[in-house]
Amino acid sequence: MERYVEQAIEAGLTELGFSDHLFMYWLAGEKRDPELGMAEWEHDFYIQDVERCRSRYRSDITIRLATEADFIPGHERRLEEILRGYDWDYVIGSVHFVGEWGIDDSREIARYDGCDLDALYARYFSLVAESAETGLFDTIGHSDLVKKFGYRPTLDPSTWYAELAARLSRAGVCVEVNTAGLRKPVGEIYPHPDLLRALHAAGVPVTLGSDAHAPGEVAADMAAACALMQSVGYDEFVKYEDRRRTAVRLPAFND
Ligand code: ZN
Ligand code: FE
Repeated sequence: MERYVEQAIEAGLTELGFSDHLFMYWLAGEKRDPELGMAEWEHDFYIQDVERCRSRYRSDITIRLATEADFIPGHERRLEEILRGYDWDYVIGSVHFVGEWGIDDSREIARYDGCDLDALYARYFSLVAESAETGLFDTIGHSDLVKKFGYRPTLDPSTWYAELAARLSRAGVCVEVNTAGLRKPVGEIYPHPDLLRALHAAGVPVTLGSDAHAPGEVAADMAAACALMQSVGYDEFVKYEDRRRTAVRLPAFND
């Protein structure tokens, strides 16, 4: 974690949020996949590690404590109980599972072949909207993750985008502009420019993130993310402290 912080400082960030994947709270212990989230016993150590980094680097960078929690319909109360126990700066809500299927898990990629992609996309976006409507999350992670491996729907997605944007706006959440998609087969920031345009039209604020899973990925492609935001009309993004938002003007990049 120190290496992530040092990379952030080097990249010129003034603020960095840690948001490790929460343990798979909706499954019995033996069914949890250590590839996909931390173990439950690791959770309190994670919090301590963030706090240690926060004090160690206090004079160089502001560090925020966050988590990325799965939205699993029917398990909201359990999640609410877990989240209540910690002083999060923000909570990211993510849909990684459609039913039992981990749609971003490369070990399950074969399931895309022969699947009804239009139905999958429609279901994915309605789960994302439902996640926001729980009120448990401050910001929505990778809001069109279903595109990760490059499988596209045949239908024009604009109706889904408009409906999702309207529901997210009513729910009062933010959406992250997440550059990890550029490092995935789809080669595209989350969300798609047309979805981001719909979000902007609906008045949904955005956060800015690289979703780094390695120190070298911290702050990756931030200039591209800012350019994308500006191209659809955003002139600011938001950051969090104690689950409250502050708007920040988008920096100007010259490259
Ligand atoms: Zn995620
Ligand atoms: Fe992630």
